[in-house]
Amino acid sequence: MMIFYRARNPRRMLISSMGVHSSIRRIPANKPTKSRGPAHSSVSPSDLEQMAATVAFTARSLAGSHPRPFGASIVHTNSGKLLLRALNRVAQDFDPSSHAEVRAIRLATKRLKKLSLAGYTLYTTCEPCPMCMSTALWAGIDRVVYGAKIADANKHCKQIQIPAVEVAARSDMQCIVDGPVLRDESYALFTHPRMLQAFRIWSTRK
Ligand SMILES: [Zn+2]
Repeated sequence: MMIFYRARNPRRMLISSMGVHSSIRRIPANKPTKSRGPAHSSVSPSDLEQMAATVAFTARSLAGSHPRPFGASIVHTNSGKLLLRALNRVAQDFDPSSHAEVRAIRLATKRLKKLSLAGYTLYTTCEPCPMCMSTALWAGIDRVVYGAKIADANKHCKQIQIPAVEVAARSDMQCIVDGPVLRDESYALFTHPRMLQAFRIWSTRK
């Protein structure tokens, strides 16, 4: 079985190649950024665009009545064509499994009327939890690209501390896991004032 794993920080590349804005909050230097795998980056300018679009889509929820930092996009791997995007809807659906990635995968397979999402890449603002990463593996997704890390999200809400790459490595499926990509921009979703307010409500939610 071949295991693919690439994780690196494209921040420098982002700044130099795209000049992407940022009124974003920088993550302190002591945040965990350790990665395994080859030193060169496999993250393309297209990945940065897809991730930036996923972050922008998710950020729109911050102005609404249900702010959420978790958003996902499913994109055709070769053409870069967007299939769909989805947000976390746990509270709205009364469904603990309505994470953005699971919802995106369910919507995608239904739309395509196929069980397999081979040929597609999942972009997500946060490293998939074990449930979401497992769903991506069961769907046969080519590649998962994530923004913030589980540890980042865990500063604000409960998480299951198993890295997505580890879930993939323990499966029989091949799936490239790349991240963190646009970590600062993704993490800024978590630290937005409206999101911080929402997290306080989440923490007392029954
Ligand atoms: Zn999840």
